[in-house]
Amino acid sequence: MDNCLFCKIVRGEIPSSRVYEDDKVLAFNDIDPKAPTHILIIPKKHIASIAALEDQDCELVAHIVRTAKQLAADKGLDNGFRLVANTGRDGGQIGAGVIRAPRECFEMAAAAFSAAYDRD
Ligand SMILES: [Zn+2]
Repeated sequence: MDNCLFCKIVRGEIPSSRVYEDDKVLAFNDIDPKAPTHILIIPKKHIASIAALEDQDCELVAHIVRTAKQLAADKGLDNGFRLVANTGRDGGQIGAGVIRAPRECFEMAAAAFSAAYDRD
């Protein structure tokens, strides 16, 4: 999608601080972190929102969650984390964020684009 922020990040048209990438997903540090660890994980395939998910996307969603789990382990977020799924405004796409909360709680935001979209 030409006008999609996350597709632009995937294409490298908008720079990002990448922490993980494979053929299906891209993970990068949030530009405006709300916690010491705040990583967004987005699918390389454009998915407009959770509402637009199709049955064949289930594996991709599972892969996003797996990636979040691995990143949380890599980051030493051993005290647990929270998984949150939002459908953002402006047709916010699906993705996931790993957020290390200030204390012992860790948060993951799936399809959370508030962090990205709320800046404009
Ligand atoms: Zn997109």
